Amino acid sequence: MEKNSKIAVLGGSGLLGSAVKKVLNKQGFESIHSPRSSEIDLLEKSRIEDYLEAERPENIFMVAGLVGGILGNNTRPADFLYQNSMMILNLLEGIRKFSPKSKLLFTGSTCIYPKENPQPINEDRFMCGKLEETNKGYAVAKGLGIVACQLYRKQHGLDTICAMPTNMYGLNDTYDLENGHMIPGLIKKFLVAKRDNGKVTLWGSGNPRREALYSEDCANALVYLMENYSSEKIVNIGTGYDYSIKEIAEIIKGETGGECKIEWDSSRPDGTFEKRTDIFRLKEIYSEFNPRSLKEGVREILDNKREVERILQD
Ligand code: GDP
Repeated sequence: MEKNSKIAVLGGSGLLGSAVKKVLNKQGFESIHSPRSSEIDLLEKSRIEDYLEAERPENIFMVAGLVGGILGNNTRPADFLYQNSMMILNLLEGIRKFSPKSKLLFTGSTCIYPKENPQPINEDRFMCGKLEETNKGYAVAKGLGIVACQLYRKQHGLDTICAMPTNMYGLNDTYDLENGHMIPGLIKKFLVAKRDNGKVTLWGSGNPRREALYSEDCANALVYLMENYSSEKIVNIGTGYDYSIKEIAEIIKGETGGECKIEWDSSRPDGTFEKRTDIFRLKEIYSEFNPRSLKEGVREILDNKREVERILQD
């Protein structure tokens, strides 16, 4: 990528997209375009085709999608399936027809690997077993997207690459307690409990284990891959180590400085027990990759006054 390359970030207002824009800006890229979904609805094929024909971006970060935590995925599985499938298929067809020189980076997610895996999860586990029931719609759609990228590369010679980020959190996250992800949910619950002198109710047993990847660290890896990697082989982006949900809760409680009591609601699902990523491939490509710890990431969020206000208002 040249500093004046035309770069499109689709999904640029979300957690990962906003971090990608921040990293690109920091690295001095000058021509970043990030159309909002109101401008280009990726579910509308003609809109994305018109955009690609007019703009022909040299690099496209496709980080748009319908995302949610365990409950959102479980209650709207057909929406997750339909929207995430159509968005990437429309985009690939559009690129093929109108902008075949564009390089595309598409993100899957480590939560689409099978339910049971030897730990850490290696990229070869993709499509090798039964899926987790709670996010089947999302997993099938993202899996389809990855295979589609590989097949458009094979048949049409498009330069597509796919990355698999693990559980993420960071600035501009969605702090929706029912439908959102665990880490932002916990940050909000502990901040609210501190403000109201209340208790915190968390889901499940607290025993499942999750990684915690700060969005800007993930974005650094994506920008690096866009510049230095071209292969049909998917690449995990994780930290390589995990925490139990109980440990995550203790870290966030410690950083928010509250004294609240934690209760566990066992009527809520635990989901996948463990899904630590193998980041050997990423480290081979990008040896300097050095993501921050959960403690450091949570501190960055809490040090950002605007984000804290937003969390408490949401
Ligand atoms: P997943 O990683 O795809 O399963 O989705 P999440 O980011 O929603 O994480 C779900 C895990 O965190 C499950 O083990 C939940 O039981 C646990 N958990 C504990 N408290 C919460 C909470 O307040 N919100 C969410 N979303 N998950 C929670």
